[in-house]
Amino acid sequence: MQRCICGTCPSFPGDDGFYCARGKSQNEVVRRGCICGDCENYKEFGLSKGYYCADGSAAEIEE
Ligand code: SF4
Ligand code: SF4
Repeated sequence: MQRCICGTCPSFPGDDGFYCARGKSQNEVVRRGCICGDCENYKEFGLSKGYYCADGSAAEIEE
């Protein structure tokens, strides 16, 4: 969770981050780009999507 870089993302909706594991934000997301691809967790967990803050956790939206 410390490795999550959502806090520096232009789309960050302003709560706790770590959306790939925790699921959607409670807040509205304005899509201004997603930087999950630069995150160590993204590589480690073999993720392929993004915008977990808007669309839901990896378990919900990854193939
Ligand atoms: S992949 Fe995205 S949502 Fe998940 S920890 Fe990294 S920056 Fe946060
Ligand atoms: S999940 Fe992606 S779009 Fe949402 S705040 Fe994190 S890096 Fe930005």
